[in-house]
Amino acid sequence: MTVILRDPAQSAALDKLFAAALAARENAYAPYSHFAVGAAVRTPAGEIFSGANVENAAYPAGCCAETGAIAAMAAAGGRQIAEVLVVAECGRGIWPCGGCRQRIAEFATEDAIVHSAGPEGIRQSIKFAALLPQAFDRQTLESESE
Ligand SMILES: [Zn+2]
Repeated sequence: MTVILRDPAQSAALDKLFAAALAARENAYAPYSHFAVGAAVRTPAGEIFSGANVENAAYPAGCCAETGAIAAMAAAGGRQIAEVLVVAECGRGIWPCGGCRQRIAEFATEDAIVHSAGPEGIRQSIKFAALLPQAFDRQTLESESE
């Protein structure tokens, strides 16, 4: 994976993204796994939307934090994601699950970045393209075979 070195000038915006994800995590509904996750997405215009995981007694009906953040963005009219931050208390570090990588791919800008964080702060940042190479996306449907 390609590790992104952060520009100090961007750190204020990143702090805001982290704070939004961390605050959402406080409201995670995870009575079954007890694994609270928070996520926040930033649009190229700088808008931030957050989400938390919401579990359900019928397990498959639950949804991930990233899914909630993306839904909030879409409901507000957002259609592009420049950055995603996911936060959880997780020894090995947390990254979006496969389903959420696909959801992010729908809106990710070409140079979108994903940040993995613990409650103490960001641990690692990589380009989204490294998380889901060769994605099935809009371009796949738009390219007609001959
Ligand atoms: Zn997920």
